[in-house]
Amino acid sequence: MIFDGHSDLLYDVTRRRLAGEKHVLERRHLRNLEAGGVEGLMLALWVSADSFWKKVPEATDHRARTEIMLLCMKAELAECPWLTMVRTPAEAEDTKAAGKKYAFLAVEGMDAMGDDLGAIDRYGDLGVRIGMLTWNGENLLATGAGGDPYSGLTELGRRAVRRMEDRNILVDVSHLNDGGFRDVMKMAEGPVIASHSNCRALCDVRRNLTDDQLRAIRDTGGIVGLNVHHAFVHTDRERQTAEMLARHAAHMAEVMGVEHVACGFDFCEYFGPGNEGVDGLENCSQIGNLFYWLEKLGMNEQERNMIARENFLRVLA
Ligand SMILES: [Zn+2]
Repeated sequence: MIFDGHSDLLYDVTRRRLAGEKHVLERRHLRNLEAGGVEGLMLALWVSADSFWKKVPEATDHRARTEIMLLCMKAELAECPWLTMVRTPAEAEDTKAAGKKYAFLAVEGMDAMGDDLGAIDRYGDLGVRIGMLTWNGENLLATGAGGDPYSGLTELGRRAVRRMEDRNILVDVSHLNDGGFRDVMKMAEGPVIASHSNCRALCDVRRNLTDDQLRAIRDTGGIVGLNVHHAFVHTDRERQTAEMLARHAAHMAEVMGVEHVACGFDFCEYFGPGNEGVDGLENCSQIGNLFYWLEKLGMNEQERNMIARENFLRVLA
């Protein structure tokens, strides 16, 4: 069974519910989740899709977008007796034992907070367990992977990291630039994670991590989640395959130890062209293909289970 540590399903739920659909998860996604053996998900509050939100009149800023997404989530969950929001691995295990799927909540980009650190307390009250300071752009806290690679955390960003750690919200560096990564590592006390990033050694793009960065995450006790997005797996189209993603996993295991490798698949093929996964991992029904290749590359069942669910759930404890 799989815990997928990064999912954009809330965005799909939101845009479809705003267009009048109901039962979005059940009608459009449940079958693939079942086929892929997904027992639980980390649902991201991601509200940076400007081209979509500009068409929603009430979505005047990131805070309003977040409120709209939370309302859509609430309405959707009311229609999903098979899915329960949880805050801890113990609650996840109880939910699984009751025959349901579970979901944790993450914030992907904290632009909505502006300069109000109290927003982090509200995220904590909502049950958010993972926080990314930025998406790809720059905000008052830090700069994302799409911006100047060298600028570090702002003073407010540093205080946000401290507040997140106080509130048991894991700091997630997946979208952060290299300067921000460096600053988070200097000050982090608890585990730091990269929920959905691969290795620059195999695919040299800014959303992926250098071997030194992988080791820095290992040293905090954190994890790195494997991402199926084609552009983060290989720069050659022909090598964007399930096998190549398994090679990222093997590389991470070699550099950090297998206990720091996890899943953060980021499937978003349902958003259309440009969002494809790799060959053999086109949607979450095909997750088994990754584990087929992990076995081929010599990982035993225990190691595969660690990657499939145990490692990520451990850092959420
Ligand atoms: Zn992302």
